[in-house]
Order: sequence, then structure tokens, then C-alpha cells
Amino acid sequence: MVIENTSETDNILEVQELRKYFPVKSGFFRRLVGELKAVDDVNFELRRGETLALVGESGCGKTTTARCIVKAVTPTSGSIKYKGHSGEIVDTTELKGEPLRTLRRNIQMIFQDPFSSLNPRMNVFDIVSEPLTTFRIGDRADREQRVIELLSRVGLRPEFMRRFPHAFSGGQRQRIGIARALAVNPEVVIADEPVSALDVSVQAQILNLMSDLQEELSLTYLFVSHDLSVVKIFSNRVAVMYVGKIVEISDTEELFSNPKHPYTEALLYSVPKTDPRLRTEWEPLSGEVANPLDPPSGCYFHPRCPYATDICREQSPPLKETSPGHWTSCHRSEEVELQGVG
Ligand code: SF4
Repeated sequence: MVIENTSETDNILEVQELRKYFPVKSGFFRRLVGELKAVDDVNFELRRGETLALVGESGCGKTTTARCIVKAVTPTSGSIKYKGHSGEIVDTTELKGEPLRTLRRNIQMIFQDPFSSLNPRMNVFDIVSEPLTTFRIGDRADREQRVIELLSRVGLRPEFMRRFPHAFSGGQRQRIGIARALAVNPEVVIADEPVSALDVSVQAQILNLMSDLQEELSLTYLFVSHDLSVVKIFSNRVAVMYVGKIVEISDTEELFSNPKHPYTEALLYSVPKTDPRLRTEWEPLSGEVANPLDPPSGCYFHPRCPYATDICREQSPPLKETSPGHWTSCHRSEEVELQGVG
């Protein structure tokens, strides 16, 4: 099902009916025995200039969705429409050759692990200038000037550009990764858990930096994260994924104060609270995340859902708009009273 954009916003990306199934083979002849539905009918739009967070537990398909957008993996079906500076809309799933290269210039990625995402044999200059070399932008002097600008912009001293990654802390390495992503002036940055491998104090610095860069360079972020406390302060809207599907999507404030899907409620209450007055009698979720190789019938969340009824076990709930801009896939979203965290 396709989410209709009811507002007058300018969408830079529209993901429609996106699916990514991985074949599962077994036995001596490597016969196909099933399909792992990592992404299964995902729909959302990314509005120009916003930060949309994609959240969910490990293995829910959020990183695979991000990788489909940058075409690091080829989707099984669906479309990803990108509207660039010129206003021309292209379906990125059909791009090849030079148009695909142009797309990759406009959509860049920041990776989760600043230790493994930087080549230890390349110095900082080579790492940050690599996209400029790949896209044949400028000569060596131009690239050096650009690297100096980028390092200064992300809070690193340009004179360190001949050093290797091992000489930097985790936060500094993530700054190098951000400089590399920005080298070719992208419009969209996909940040895949960019702060989850960092200390809490460093996380705040990196988020502040990303926020400043967004304002200064008019960037649009797709922010993949499992950490709702980070998502709450950093994103404009949130899409919640469960076993390859989006189960709820809404403005951040609305989602936190007025969740409409029981899984979202469970995620909100699973965030540890330091203030004892905010702790509740809420019971943590029981059961395991559904197996995407053999998901349950009906609503995938029904074996863990305290509100499940017969219809939940039989029919898959469609994603529908329960209030303006708030989409939920739950049969009982209009009858059960869920608790937000304000
Ligand atoms: Fe729970 Fe039913 Fe809603 Fe699924 S459809 S989240 S099982 S109430």
C-alpha cells in the first residue's frame, strides 16, 4: 500500500512498496528453500530538509531499507523516486551507468562503526578526498583545499590530514566519516546508527555537529537508529519498523506522546529512565521477535501483543492514516488506549 502525501511538502524521496527478499538455500545442490523478507512492502516519503528516523529492533530491516536507497543492494521490487535540484523525478531502482553515479553523488551515507568504516591503510586526506577522486572532481590542489575546508567544518585540525585513522578517537573518526560523506555536496545523507558506537558525551557532540551541518548545508537526513532517546531529540518524524514492515509513522512529538501501535508503546517504555518518578508498572515485552523466514499469520506482532484478538491472528492490518500525518498498521488502533511518554 502506498502512503499518499496529504500535505503540501516537497518530497525529496518517495519509497513505494519496497521489498527486499534474500533467497535462502540449503543442501548439497544449494536448492532454494525459502525467502528471508528483510523489507516487505515499505512505504514512506522523505521531505526536503527534514530528519526522518527509521527505528526498530536489530534485524527489523531498517539498514536494508537504507542500503536499498543508496543501491548498495538491489531491491526485489518497488520504487524509490528521487527528486533532485532540477525538479526531475527519477526511479532510482531503474538507474544504471552515469545516472546512477549522479544519484550516488547526491545521496551519501554515514556508517555506524567509525572503526571499521575507515580504511586503516589510507590517511585522512585519501579517505576524505576519495569521493572527489571517484567522481573526478578537481585536481589534487583543489581536492587538498576541499579537504582542509571539510576537516575544519567538522571540527578537526587540517594539519592532521596525513595521519591514519588509528591515531584518532571514535568521535574524531566519525567526524572523518561525516567529512567524507559531505565531500561531494550531497542533498540527502543516510546516517546508519551514526552514534551508537560512541560514548554518550561524544554522541551529543556528533549530533550537534550533524544538526549544524543540516542547517548550514540544507541537508535532508534519513536517520537509522534503535535508540529512541536519541531519535526524540534529533528527528522531525519517526517511522517504526517491525519484521520488515513499517507499523507506525508520525511526527516525533505526536508519536512519543500519542502512540497508536502497541509495538511503539513497548519501545517507548523500554527506554531506561533515570528519574524514578517517571518509572511505571509497565511490563516489558515477552516473546521473541518474529522470524522473517517464517513470520506468524495476520499481524506479525500478535504473538507478543497484549491487545491481540482473533482478527489479529487472521488478517494482516493495513497501514492507514488514523489522524493527519499519523499512519498506523493495527486493527485496534482506534479502540485501545495506549500510553505515550510525553
Ligand atoms: Fe496488536 Fe492486533 Fe494491533 Fe497487531 S493488529 S498490534 S496484534 S492489536
